[in-house]
Amino acid sequence: MTPLSAEARKWGEEMVSHAAFFHGRGWVAGTAGNLSVRPPEGPVLITPSGRHKGTLSIGDLVAVSSEGSPVGEKGGRPSAETSLHAAIYGSVPKAGAVYHVHTVESNLVSLWAQDGGVGLPPLEMLKGLGVVGENPSARMEVFPNWPEVPKIADEVVKRFGEGGFDVPGFLIRLHGLTVWGEDPAQALHHVELMDFVFRYLVLERQTRERGKVFQVPGPSGGP
Ligand SMILES: [Zn+2]
Repeated sequence: MTPLSAEARKWGEEMVSHAAFFHGRGWVAGTAGNLSVRPPEGPVLITPSGRHKGTLSIGDLVAVSSEGSPVGEKGGRPSAETSLHAAIYGSVPKAGAVYHVHTVESNLVSLWAQDGGVGLPPLEMLKGLGVVGENPSARMEVFPNWPEVPKIADEVVKRFGEGGFDVPGFLIRLHGLTVWGEDPAQALHHVELMDFVFRYLVLERQTRERGKVFQVPGPSGGP
């Protein structure tokens, strides 16, 4: 990879530490997930394809353009899901980091989509995702998990053109969560906040279902 500016290096190192943190939480098991940053002076630095996220170093990152094409003298193979990152960088000029993780709860919540989205509960935590108000209301978009990732990327770009997203992120059905932020720190916050919301949704549903199971039978002895 061509030499990086001090700032690009700092952003890359921050992202590598976030990748290890995600691995510790079980959010990028195996070789799942991919992360990228777009430092102010570019290029985009993305995690390599098929690598474990708990053991990366800055030298492993691959430099690509905002459109996702490799740049520089050499480098590994960029993530197989680079087109998703390019879709966001091309649509959100302020995006400085894109993080994609595979969490259990994001997979479960993706199953509950209706009309291509899931309504989010009016939690205080939504404020951190830019949704404000006493009773905040927002929807999480859920895209089909096409085997051809560029096809998902095309749908994401189309969504940006059709009104965009309530929150800085989206789900791919039975696949995972993708978020963006202005810098690595903000992207990290967004992953954590969305994970909180998903865990809330799963627990809320479990609690409701358990309530049914333990319901006291009526006087007739019926269910
Ligand atoms: Zn993925």
